[in-house]
Amino acid sequence: MKDSNFLKEKNARSLWHPMTHPADSLANPPAIITSAQGVRISDVDGHEVVDGVGGLWNVNLGFSCQPVKDAIARQLDVLPYYSTFRGTTNDAVIELSEELRDFYEPDGLTRAFYTSGGSDSVETALRLARQYHKIRGDEGRTKFLSLKKGYHGTHMGGASVNGNANFRTQYEPLLPGCFHIPAPYTYRNPFNETDPEKLAALCLQALQDEIAFQGAGTIAAMIMEPILGAGGVIPPHESFMPGVRDICTKNGILLIADEVITAFGRTGSWTGSRHWGVQPDMMATAKAITNGYFPFGAVMIADKVVEVFESDTSGKAAIGHGYTYSGHPVGAAAALACLAETKRLKVNENAAARGAEMYAGLLALQEKHELIGDVRGGHGLMCAIELVSDRASKTPIDKKSGGVVQDVAYRSGAIVRISGPNIILSPPLVLTSEDVQVILSSLDAGLEAAAQ
Ligand code: PMP
Repeated sequence: MKDSNFLKEKNARSLWHPMTHPADSLANPPAIITSAQGVRISDVDGHEVVDGVGGLWNVNLGFSCQPVKDAIARQLDVLPYYSTFRGTTNDAVIELSEELRDFYEPDGLTRAFYTSGGSDSVETALRLARQYHKIRGDEGRTKFLSLKKGYHGTHMGGASVNGNANFRTQYEPLLPGCFHIPAPYTYRNPFNETDPEKLAALCLQALQDEIAFQGAGTIAAMIMEPILGAGGVIPPHESFMPGVRDICTKNGILLIADEVITAFGRTGSWTGSRHWGVQPDMMATAKAITNGYFPFGAVMIADKVVEVFESDTSGKAAIGHGYTYSGHPVGAAAALACLAETKRLKVNENAAARGAEMYAGLLALQEKHELIGDVRGGHGLMCAIELVSDRASKTPIDKKSGGVVQDVAYRSGAIVRISGPNIILSPPLVLTSEDVQVILSSLDAGLEAAAQ
């Protein structure tokens, strides 16, 4: 076995972790993951636990998906890299694009623009949205709308539309012209509204009010997650996203669905937009597109946008944007194999069935543990519990107690993710009922320990 303490020391002195205070790496060393099989990960200290996080919402097919591994190895052998900038392309990315066109046909999305990950996809969509209006001669449409609690990655554009202060404050000033609408977050909202449908209506009204205040002709796009993920898994009422779609259409505002988490079956539907019966104008994807085995992403584009770009004769539609790794052949090969496995295994169906078990299990835990203020889920394998030290006042749990839940759960057999007062669950979509029970019983142990 590798020397765990020595590795932890080296980790602290040689790298910084995302979303972590650098001093924390020594004070509270992270688990050093050394191998993984199926839906289980193993660390350097000999723990083997069920992955309740699914990597980072991306390892939908688990860690042993051989067809994806084989496709990567094969592609590395044949063509490890070539760019898709003007003048060249590669056969793997063409094949993938045709497959994605098929997959996204019900969402009305027919073109792909490739990226290296979720933040890149968001940035791409925001930039293409501005360009779309400029090509049409609607130069004044430059602003962006988004939801409070929304998470759209970490680039300057994404951070500007993010709706959580943690990802913004230390990086200001951000992009001007970005405005945030209250999220349909039933447990806490400025309207004190506990009925999800009424709350959705109030948030839609707030969106309309903001558009009227800014002037519709100044707004390029609204970006939103179909189910808010990193902000604490907040599923809206079913009327919400169709309502947003309607308001955007009426006001000439593009709707960008950020489906970096929700795009490949996580919600129980193949995409989050389809889950709510909505067709967006662009969709940002990444993560599960390659099952997390290769950094890759895509923005999928609807015909309405395609037509404006492709019929342009002024030159304004020349895309002055792209990444060295846009359309990377190894990523494309991984994505192709991944898509085939995703469809063959019908992982969306397992996500719906196991997600229902997980949600029911969490509701049962709420009966037992006073610490659970709110349980959210019911739409595939994305669930969260919000922890409070006092249910009546909804006081968020302190950081230390939240850490106890996570640590004890880990030692009891499952890794879960704490984010503020929320424990977020987003396991691989191929897990079994038994795996769900391991996650629930580990959480149970964690909550028990924190209560003491
Ligand atoms: N959008 C959403 C909805 C996300 O959840 C994330 C990452 N969790 C991103 C964008 C950013 O993706 P990445 O970390 O791959 O840049």
